Amino acid sequence: AQREQAASDALAQSGVAAPAIRPASRNKPFDYLIVGAGFAGSVLAERLTTQLGKRVLLIDKRPHIAGNAFDEKDAAGVLMHKYGPHIFHTNSEEVSGYLSQFTKWRPYEHRVLASVRGGLLVPMPINRTTLNMLYNVNLKTDDEAEAFLASRGEEVEKIRTSEDVVVSKVGRELYEMFFRGYTRKQWGLDPSELDKSVTARVPTRTNEDDRYFTDKFQAMPLDGYTRMFENMLDQKGLTVETGVEYEDARAETVYDHLIFTGPVDEFFDHRYGKLPYRSLAFRHETLQQEWFQSVGTVNYPDEQTPYTRISEYKHLTGQSSKVTTITYEYPRADGDPYYPVPRPENQALYKKYEALALETPNVHFVGRLATYRYYNMDQVVGQSLATFRRIAEREGRTTIA
Ligand code: FAD
Ligand code: UDP
Repeated sequence: AQREQAASDALAQSGVAAPAIRPASRNKPFDYLIVGAGFAGSVLAERLTTQLGKRVLLIDKRPHIAGNAFDEKDAAGVLMHKYGPHIFHTNSEEVSGYLSQFTKWRPYEHRVLASVRGGLLVPMPINRTTLNMLYNVNLKTDDEAEAFLASRGEEVEKIRTSEDVVVSKVGRELYEMFFRGYTRKQWGLDPSELDKSVTARVPTRTNEDDRYFTDKFQAMPLDGYTRMFENMLDQKGLTVETGVEYEDARAETVYDHLIFTGPVDEFFDHRYGKLPYRSLAFRHETLQQEWFQSVGTVNYPDEQTPYTRISEYKHLTGQSSKVTTITYEYPRADGDPYYPVPRPENQALYKKYEALALETPNVHFVGRLATYRYYNMDQVVGQSLATFRRIAEREGRTTIA
């Protein structure tokens, strides 16, 4: 009833009469309206329908499901990721086991090279090979590499920022070569202005492991992310509508509970001011050659190159083709919100929105944008499964599995 009131209030405010005929799917009331068909919204839609027998309407304003993980074949037939390269990796058996219900996997370990000194390609994260190549030395053991790094690392009293975390470990020269320019481009901020957690995502190694991630489970959905989402969302009781804005759906739909996975500040009409989200512009290119680069991603950490990295999808997907598709990433302030910006003042502002969120009845906020957390896909799945468990517990676990 509260929702119906909200809906009619919204209509009254917008000065539009209630539509005489609702879209067929909206004639019935829903238990849940879920906003956003990315990982957060889709996991909850699947769980609520299949485990609790709820009637769910899942909407997304984009013309497709899968959120930022959306992939499709381009005009040349190459499977590519519209919102930049997405590589799945996790240490959580709960998460990999859950997703395995909806896809088979292709084992894939991501490798990244950094282009430094005007074009020398070296392993990133920095490892023993990187050091040997850059300094023309012959470090043979972890201990030797550790000592080499220790002699360069600067003492930092309290590691607070994204500069501290790198400079203390590898020293200023490597910090400037690999991190300062990339970070300034990616975030529009100096590493000294960002929380340590940002650059701490990329470790430093003393061995020769050249994988970008070391998680136990590293694989790509065999037929792509979008197909995995299609399987996840093909459920009785679940209606999916794309190209639909929350504002419109809420005015036209009767529902008891809301799950919101868009930007939390937008939900509250930016009441306390805008929460900064960083955006990207993607340049996708199909080249009439079989391969463009030797690994999935090459990073360009110098500040002059306008993009941060180039990724080539066939490495990720294992697809064979005579042509190849690559994506350049150009960071920007305006555009779709992709990254929360981890720094203390933003966290403080988010906390004010979080307090509002907690006192808003019948609404759950889930996902990277709604909880303002720099989460990978597996973390969003984990967060969504935990939210589902809380909902089920509150209802006394009346699951119908
Ligand atoms: P999203 O996928 O953003 O979904 C939210 C959805 O809500 C969107 O589709 C949006 O259109 C919709 N929405 C928002 N507001 C409204 C509204 N008002 N009305 C209707 N719909 C609305 N993670 C990894 O694990 N590995 C990677 O390699 C990786 N690479 C990445 C590369 C890039 C360039 C980016 C940006 C992210 C990457 N990620 C990666 C992170 C990953 O994309 C996220 O963790 C994940 O997609 C978040 O899922 P989500 O459901 O929270 O949000
Ligand atoms: N980073 C960097 N140089 C690199 C790679 C990463 O400075 O070559 C920093 C940069 O600040 C980046 C952060 O580390 O935003 C996290 O990198 P990651 O590859 O995890 O970024 P994502 O894939 O989430 O964009």
